[in-house]
Amino acid sequence: MQEYSNDKITVRYDEKICVHAGKCVRGLPQVFDVKKDPWINVSGAEVAAIKQTVGQCPSGALSYEERK
Ligand code: SF4
Repeated sequence: MQEYSNDKITVRYDEKICVHAGKCVRGLPQVFDVKKDPWINVSGAEVAAIKQTVGQCPSGALSYEERK
């Protein structure tokens, strides 16, 4: 399990269950970019956009937790 955080949100990624459907990289490329390291930049877009894109992950590989 990989975890990426800033002061607003934590995004978790479980590579074992990713089906590589590409919803994340196509939906929000400024956050999800496999050519970058780390490949998830949680500061690349608004929290609402990240939540929406994570919600479209078909496998459940992506999840998030908002930080208070
Ligand atoms: S949307 Fe989910 S299943 Fe598809 S590539 Fe991204 S993490 Fe993997």
